[in-house]
Amino acid sequence: MASSGSSAGTGTGTGSSGTGGSAATGSSADTVSTQRTEPECESQDSRGDGEARVAPWGIIIPITEGFHSMELVNTEYSFGRDFNCDYIFPDNDAQRYRTYSSRHFHIFLNGDPFIQDDSMNGTYMNGNLLSRDEKVVLPNYATIALGGAEHHVLTFCNLMHQDGHKFPDGLRDRYMIAKELGTGVFGRVFLAFRVGSLERVAIKMIPKQDLALQEVPTTNVKAEAEILQQLVHPGIVRFLEACDSEEAFFIVLEYADGGELSQWLKRRRVLCEKTSKFVFYQIVLAVHYLNEQGVIHRDLKLQNVLLASTDEEPLVKVTDFGLARIAGEQSVARTLCGTLHYLAPEVFDVGKSRAGYGKAVDCWALGVILFWCLSGRSPFVECPAGTSMAEQIRSRRVVFDPQVWATISQSARDLVTHLLTVDPSRRCTTQQALQHPWLQDPEMKMKVQRLWEG
Ligand code: AMP
Repeated sequence: MASSGSSAGTGTGTGSSGTGGSAATGSSADTVSTQRTEPECESQDSRGDGEARVAPWGIIIPITEGFHSMELVNTEYSFGRDFNCDYIFPDNDAQRYRTYSSRHFHIFLNGDPFIQDDSMNGTYMNGNLLSRDEKVVLPNYATIALGGAEHHVLTFCNLMHQDGHKFPDGLRDRYMIAKELGTGVFGRVFLAFRVGSLERVAIKMIPKQDLALQEVPTTNVKAEAEILQQLVHPGIVRFLEACDSEEAFFIVLEYADGGELSQWLKRRRVLCEKTSKFVFYQIVLAVHYLNEQGVIHRDLKLQNVLLASTDEEPLVKVTDFGLARIAGEQSVARTLCGTLHYLAPEVFDVGKSRAGYGKAVDCWALGVILFWCLSGRSPFVECPAGTSMAEQIRSRRVVFDPQVWATISQSARDLVTHLLTVDPSRRCTTQQALQHPWLQDPEMKMKVQRLWEG
């Protein structure tokens, strides 16, 4: 069903011959329940050669440029400079290369995965120097550094944990589930690797039992997924595919490496005006694109903007658009209970169905996001004894704290004000926002363009 256009992946590795020779046992494939109902996902032969694929028990993921990814299928793998090693280190950094040993360490499976140092200059796991010749259990997502605790080169990903069995066969044929990334309002999110390319993806698992009974299971997942798959823009998290089983919906998304904008902002408390502009411009372009394609996000918030990398000036990507199309309208309505801050005033109007709201709700949320980036707080503050949040929003009782806003330009404040206009028919549109004087910054636009071009 899906074809990936994502560029977030890793290169395919070489050298999977191994020294131990025998295929590993205990892979996630071994935990399959034969009771499972047939999912709607298409299943396919991932290699295209008609041969059954041996499920790997682990994956090596590169952290540093020049290193490659590798599936671990056999019981033992050697890593080093020597051409006889299963994993041969790259020599693109001559100074570093000299510190690598011919055989630096090896990884092997003995019930659990283990690592053993064989080097002159040391192997570090999660920052700790390994004693030479000592066998140490290799935990899931351990980072491996060579010759110094800071020279992280590889991450080990254990594929033998139990979560895999929750996924339909159609997905497990094509994705290797690595670890849980976190739990959101919709359900759990897993890091997975596409079989073959080892491209990283995020898979959202949304249990049907958690969703409103009266609404959800009628969704035609395939048809909705096909619409969302057509959306391709550097500012949005690519929707790769979706399917469902009796128990849950599964949504496969492009993986974004840098976490949520909300966390980024929390660490910095506020973003300076320059950074706010750089981030906000990208978000407006993405929302503009979605709206132009007939998709209203309706759950736009800082948590739904992901960073594509951990760079100082990262590419940002809007996510979770269209989830209502897959998991049902009620599921999105449920998430809104926790995010009143972003709700447009018209959403509170009694008797209206949320589905009837237009693009203007996204523009209101953009206003809240910009306010938050610039000032480090929401424009609407929960005060138990005072005016309710809904009332504050309907009357646009925005608190522009003079101490905070004194250093922020009038132009930025003007854009916030235009986006936070109570009357949706008079509210600034994404097109108007893009033309607003505050966003007319050729240097910033050039930077975004360069990021988009990769
Ligand atoms: P959510 O359900 O969207 O709240 O996400 C739960 C956790 O998974 C959060 O820590 C997110 O940052 C993470 N997450 C969700 N989607 C992705 C993605 N596409 N790439 C990387 N991490 C993600």
